[in-house]
Amino acid sequence: MNEANVDRAVIDKVLAQIDKDEVVRFHQSLVRVPSVNPPGDVREAIALCEQSLKHAGFETRLVAVEEAKPNLIATCSGQPGPTLCFNAHLDVVPIGERSAWQHDPFGAEIVDGKIYGRGAGDDKASVAAQVMAAVALARAGVELHGTLVVNEVADEEVGGVSGAKMVVEAGHIKSDYVIVGEQTLNRVCVGEKGSAGTTITVYGRTAHGALPWEGANAIEGMAEVIAALRRELWPQLENRTHQYFHHSSASVNIITGGVKSNVVPDVCEIYIDRRLIPGEDPKLAVAEIDEIAQKAVRDIPGISVTVEGREQSLPATVSAPDAPLVRSMIEANRIIGGNTEPTGFSMATDGRFFAKAGCPTIIYGPGDPKLAHVPDEWVGVDELYEATRAYAVAALLLLGGE
Ligand SMILES: [Zn+2]
Repeated sequence: MNEANVDRAVIDKVLAQIDKDEVVRFHQSLVRVPSVNPPGDVREAIALCEQSLKHAGFETRLVAVEEAKPNLIATCSGQPGPTLCFNAHLDVVPIGERSAWQHDPFGAEIVDGKIYGRGAGDDKASVAAQVMAAVALARAGVELHGTLVVNEVADEEVGGVSGAKMVVEAGHIKSDYVIVGEQTLNRVCVGEKGSAGTTITVYGRTAHGALPWEGANAIEGMAEVIAALRRELWPQLENRTHQYFHHSSASVNIITGGVKSNVVPDVCEIYIDRRLIPGEDPKLAVAEIDEIAQKAVRDIPGISVTVEGREQSLPATVSAPDAPLVRSMIEANRIIGGNTEPTGFSMATDGRFFAKAGCPTIIYGPGDPKLAHVPDEWVGVDELYEATRAYAVAALLLLGGE
């Protein structure tokens, strides 16, 4: 790794190019664009990023499979060397009930050092910090030994099909290091949890609600399945731990069943949001749910059950703590006075697509994940500025500028 080769003077030269007010104004301009997904039109927000990077000297291009969902790829190349990619997303979730907000969801108001708005944290804080860090590197005139790619994308909040997933799978970016910006409170996350979403369907037999003994009640069968999972599997998951992550988990998040108040239901379905720590296999995670579900209804006459995993399931990703990417980001945090203890990210990010393609990937960004998707979402001004500085230093350490 190159960090020893980077002069403190070079780092200071780049940091001097980061203007806090400019970072905040740029972030506010992004929050004021209501790039709500659905429908997920990010053209205006992407254009703001493209303008700034182009003006700083980056080569820019847009790739899209849906017209309203362009993805920006801005590149700055120096001497031959590795490629570092910054990635974050510009689409935001809907605001929900407007009356639940004290602040204008698209006003980017600043109160007591906090910038409020939908996407203030998730994920426009990361986008703003990455773009402003890249602009500072270019303005400082530092020649990189490698290539910096800034990839701000669409579509993350609905699964990334027209966003990062497409960008990676179509081969638009090949990178040696990827830093995905999501809300980590500016902590270095060495990876993210995996998921194995599972659908359970219990089948019974319909009958008149006044003659329930003539039928087999699918909802009551499902109650047995849920009770068995809660009794036999959930406690086991709490014991599956990893040094960088919260324990393995599962939660029944959707239930459907029944058609009419006086009809015994013949179908009941649930969706289990199953999250995996490193070492857990998505297929085995579904199989162990299946085994418990089958056993739970085995002795109930007329009731059967099927268990199916989702196609998009992926294992957790984790980088070694001594990998150059992780060490550089930690060193960057040390230099700017941030947290130097690595940790893991509990939620899924676009990083999984890069990791699946074999790119070493970490997650780092300003904002608290607990504030994502809720009313009065905010990010701290200081935190936003700190992240901008950390991204810039990490890029210097990885691409060995001089
Ligand atoms: Zn996000």
